[in-house]
Amino acid sequence: MQEILFLLLPLAFLSGWQSARKRYKKPPTPPDEIPQNFVRGVNYLLNEQPDKALDIFLNYPDIDENTADTFLALGNLFRSRGEVNRALRVHQYLVSRADLGQGQRLAAMTALGEDFFAAGLLDRAESVFSEILRTQPHYEPACMALRLIYEKLQEWEKAREMASCATHNPEQQAQWIAHYLCEQAQVLLKERHLFKVEEKLQQATQLNEHSARVKVLWGDLAVERHQKDQALEYYQAAVQQEPRLLEMLSERLLTIYSSPFEREVLYQFALNTYQHTQDPQLLAPLIKIAQQAEQSDAISVLVLQALEKTKPTTRAMVRASQLLAQKEQQISPSITYTATLAGAIQRLATLAPEFKCESCGYKMHDFLWRCPACHQWDTVKND
Ligand SMILES: [Zn+2]
Repeated sequence: MQEILFLLLPLAFLSGWQSARKRYKKPPTPPDEIPQNFVRGVNYLLNEQPDKALDIFLNYPDIDENTADTFLALGNLFRSRGEVNRALRVHQYLVSRADLGQGQRLAAMTALGEDFFAAGLLDRAESVFSEILRTQPHYEPACMALRLIYEKLQEWEKAREMASCATHNPEQQAQWIAHYLCEQAQVLLKERHLFKVEEKLQQATQLNEHSARVKVLWGDLAVERHQKDQALEYYQAAVQQEPRLLEMLSERLLTIYSSPFEREVLYQFALNTYQHTQDPQLLAPLIKIAQQAEQSDAISVLVLQALEKTKPTTRAMVRASQLLAQKEQQISPSITYTATLAGAIQRLATLAPEFKCESCGYKMHDFLWRCPACHQWDTVKND
């Protein structure tokens, strides 16, 4: 599709070129005579020599609405092909033109800011979008872009300021701002400013009372205050809200709750959640917790049933094969078939990303609250 658009661009250029000539009252180009420079420019584009094509197109003195739109499209195409320097060259040229209409100048500035963002030049992108907001204070694309820039820079207060003009959807605003408050609470928790953490979490709860992340942080705060029972209630509420969090939390839970009784409580909770949801993604953390709670024998029938009847995750396959290898060796220490298989599955699993963004499909090894590719919150799930 992109390549087709690329090949259609010369036609758009020609149309803009000829109408510009009319506007500037230059002698019209006879229908059978196409300007030589234009032909050279198109040839360069078709021969994959876009820089030479740009030398010609960007030195053409006349520009009208059609030509400006074509330049914008050309720059955006360059950016989407990953050719950000060329996109920057086109959009900087457009912004420098004094003869652009207000709408086209705004579009060109926005495109220029997006080029800087794509190039990772966040300070330049920030100044372009801030410049736009000086004349158009509620221009949504600029607010949205600045919000993303401040998220990347982890400037959560500024991101929060932009959230209200980046969308009119109050639920979306509340979701973003609750995450920003959680980010701030995490930093404050590390610094042990526990009262400030509580303040942030209260605000986040008011904005998004169903947020599993907020519940996890209430649990973390309770642990810091040595209120382990209360913390467990928060963690359990978070997992009931978002069962996928059990895997992410399992290591931490096993560290906090280390006595045999506490681990038995954890095991019963994980077992109930698995049986209630029948979610194959919960099998892996359930096996891990069962092993730590010395419930390997109790869980083995359930694991065999899950292997026979469900589609287990790679991580569940690793843990299930390790558990079965242990059982096999208890019966006959000299037989190592399952142990060999378990080792091979584990080596295979280290290569596979365990998490995937539901929105854009980007895969990653670690759980993140925000997808690094499409910048959406709460879209990362177990793969
Ligand atoms: Zn994504």
